[in-house]
Amino acid sequence: MAYTAVELIEQKRDGGVLSREAIDWLISAYTAGNVADYQMAAMAMAIFFNGMSPEELAAWTKAMLHSGDVMDFSEIPARKVDKHSTGGVGDKISIPLAPLVAACDVAVPMMSGRGLGHTGGTLDKLESIPGFVTELNPERFTEILTEHGLVLAGQSESLAPADQKLYALRDVTGTVPSIPLIASSIMSKKLAEGLDGLLLDVKTGAGALMKEIDRSRDLARTMVGIGESHGVNTIAFITSMEQPLGNEVGNANEIRESIDVLRGEGPDDVTQLTMTFAEAMLILGGVDRGRERLRQAIESGAALDKFIDVTIAHGGDPKVIEDTSLLARSPHEAVIAAPHDGYVTRCDALTIGSATVRIGAGRADKDDVIDPGVGVSVLAKLGDRVSAGDPLARVRYADESRWAAQRGHLASAWEISEDPVPPLPLVVERIDATTF
Ligand code: URA
Repeated sequence: MAYTAVELIEQKRDGGVLSREAIDWLISAYTAGNVADYQMAAMAMAIFFNGMSPEELAAWTKAMLHSGDVMDFSEIPARKVDKHSTGGVGDKISIPLAPLVAACDVAVPMMSGRGLGHTGGTLDKLESIPGFVTELNPERFTEILTEHGLVLAGQSESLAPADQKLYALRDVTGTVPSIPLIASSIMSKKLAEGLDGLLLDVKTGAGALMKEIDRSRDLARTMVGIGESHGVNTIAFITSMEQPLGNEVGNANEIRESIDVLRGEGPDDVTQLTMTFAEAMLILGGVDRGRERLRQAIESGAALDKFIDVTIAHGGDPKVIEDTSLLARSPHEAVIAAPHDGYVTRCDALTIGSATVRIGAGRADKDDVIDPGVGVSVLAKLGDRVSAGDPLARVRYADESRWAAQRGHLASAWEISEDPVPPLPLVVERIDATTF
């Protein structure tokens, strides 16, 4: 049947349901450049307002997933499990998690992204290890995965190209925050990786893409449903992103803290989340006695060795892992001090993330160069008792004018009150196929 973009846009605008054939046509014509960006933008807006039926969502995700290559790692005997986070501040979990899981015999073909908005990106963090190459061709990606049971790379351009085009378009047309569009975007890329299992970390709170728990839950359920309907066992955790994870924000800073976790010396929240996710990934990978295996992998040094080996395979310098003081550190240091005595009742992830990005740890434009040595060490977190003058954060920066412009903004992230607030749970909810 012949379709035109305009009639499909009108159908969706008026609350109709698009057929599987119509969706296949639309996505393939858009990928080939035969449907214009302005038409796809109108379609995205119609979906933003009218949502998608479960059948439309399944067809849309499948069409995007098959818009490019689908990877096949069936020659690797171990089960393949990846993790995706919707993004947060100080969210370095993938970096200790991936080698830890791989050290327990589950293969991890990890495809990560770059910093977006106020959040950091795993690829940018890894690139603060001198020499570490994250852009790999498919052959090298498979070679490293086969040899080490782990690879840490960016998404290849041939994977779900329809999503790569559509996501860039949504970013500039106010159509990012649509649950069906987000769920199909994330899942089409993940399902194209040829996985057996997928762990999803859906962040909720001030520093998250989804700020309200109901929307986070809706997104998590939608993605678990898509994964399961494609035969990929999927577990989602909803986790708090009110305050930064751990104590370090910024690229080299976060590599340092990740290595601490692999040494068994990481901060409690990062360690807890890493262990919780790793255990779930081992379940998805069919490995028994998960907690015990994970503990052994940390205590024996096997997880750290796995990170060193994979760093060498990616061209990175392993010396900075053995001695993290060799990682980049910007030349100047400043401190944000507590204005008065009290308890920390706000330590806002969004403000800390956006200030760190603007001081030089992230990009305002896509071609901006990141300074790996810029970072904020968060020294006072929710519930901590502080006295006037105590340091709330230590900042490393290189550019005086950028720091001067952000100093007040960064300081506004903290609120110090007389009475403490009850601690927030880090893991809010776990969702899998049995949950609904
Ligand atoms: N991340 C994605 O990959 N896609 C979205 O739509 C939102 C976040």
